[in-house]
Amino acid sequence: MSRIAFVAGNWKMNGSLAKVDAFASEFKQTGADLSCDLAVCVPNVYLQRMIEGLDGSGVAVGAQNLSGETEPGAFTGEINGTMLGEIGCKYVIVGHSERRAMYGETDEIVVAKTKAAAAAGLQPIVCIGETLEQREADQTETVLATQLNAVLNGCSADELKDFVLAYEPVWAIGTGRSATPEQAQAVHAFLRAQIADRDATMADSIQIIYGGSVKPDNAAEIFSGKDVDGALVGGASLKVESFLDIARAAQ
Ligand code: PEP
Repeated sequence: MSRIAFVAGNWKMNGSLAKVDAFASEFKQTGADLSCDLAVCVPNVYLQRMIEGLDGSGVAVGAQNLSGETEPGAFTGEINGTMLGEIGCKYVIVGHSERRAMYGETDEIVVAKTKAAAAAGLQPIVCIGETLEQREADQTETVLATQLNAVLNGCSADELKDFVLAYEPVWAIGTGRSATPEQAQAVHAFLRAQIADRDATMADSIQIIYGGSVKPDNAAEIFSGKDVDGALVGGASLKVESFLDIARAAQ
């Protein structure tokens, strides 16, 4: 099966209304020729504005987090998947390493959020990745298998039908130090094989994207791995030009 490439931007806690407007209008002028799946995940307060700005551009919009709770209620400060879906979000990032490390998101929470995203009809972009210490201790595959299997065991096949897996080595995020194309391909092949052990059809169709210091100048070589289906892009997604260069390298 040939999978469509997917490039998603993660703005993290960056941006402003002016930057959202500039990104959307610049993208509409220059980015019409792309055939891969594209999304930008912006802070919640800018979601609606970005959705309106990118309307008709072919770029979807995603959130960076959601509540694991599906019912409305007394959860101050939280936003659920239904709310995100109502305003037109298509994707939501789940289990980014910054949320795992800084906000205590465990595999159990990641499973609850993945289920909540699916229940709301959102496509979860589930992030997994090892730290440098774990890689150096030769624990990469064990750590990734644990994180991945939590989601595969905790969710039904139906809940997983639209999920995207993002391999993001923690040591490569925001550091300028990307995984080599060989390292990325080896891990992606391992992850696809783990999924194939349970569901060969899902393994064939799932987009497994790489994240960690992807830039216009290293994107093409990272995407050369046959199991690397695109990228989750942090810093380089803030500017249309670099985001587009990466998207062009992916298709
Ligand atoms: C990320 O935020 O998921 C990420 C990969 O960031 P960067 O591209 O800046 O390393």
